[in-house]
Amino acid sequence: MLLPYRFCLPYNDYMNKDLIKKIEKKLKEKKARLETELASFAQKDTKVKGDYDTLFPNFGTNQSSDEEATEVATYGNSLPVEYALEISLAEVNRALEKIAKEEYGKCEKCGQAIDPKRLEAMPEAKNCVKCHN
Ligand SMILES: [Zn+2]
Repeated sequence: MLLPYRFCLPYNDYMNKDLIKKIEKKLKEKKARLETELASFAQKDTKVKGDYDTLFPNFGTNQSSDEEATEVATYGNSLPVEYALEISLAEVNRALEKIAKEEYGKCEKCGQAIDPKRLEAMPEAKNCVKCHN
């Protein structure tokens, strides 16, 4: 029985440079999008790389308790969004680091190459389909 071609190719041939370039572009676009989104309501934490703090909205000092409640609600609603965006951003940055180190496309669990189709659909994938499930 013949092995599928992908098991016969060394890693570098399997993950071809054009595909990596394409994925890197995608990741950079996503990174820019996430950073813009985060910057719209959160302040970048200069002490912690990749961390953002949600800004506490301020509607002024002479305000009714109603307005104060709105401030708190706005802040509370932004936190889970900030958290989710931060996680996505960290994943994108991690994938970009792996491209720089020429380790991109390897499953972090078993070390096998991740299916390029999976990487195209989800550039920040860390595991192959087998390890993911
Ligand atoms: Zn794996």
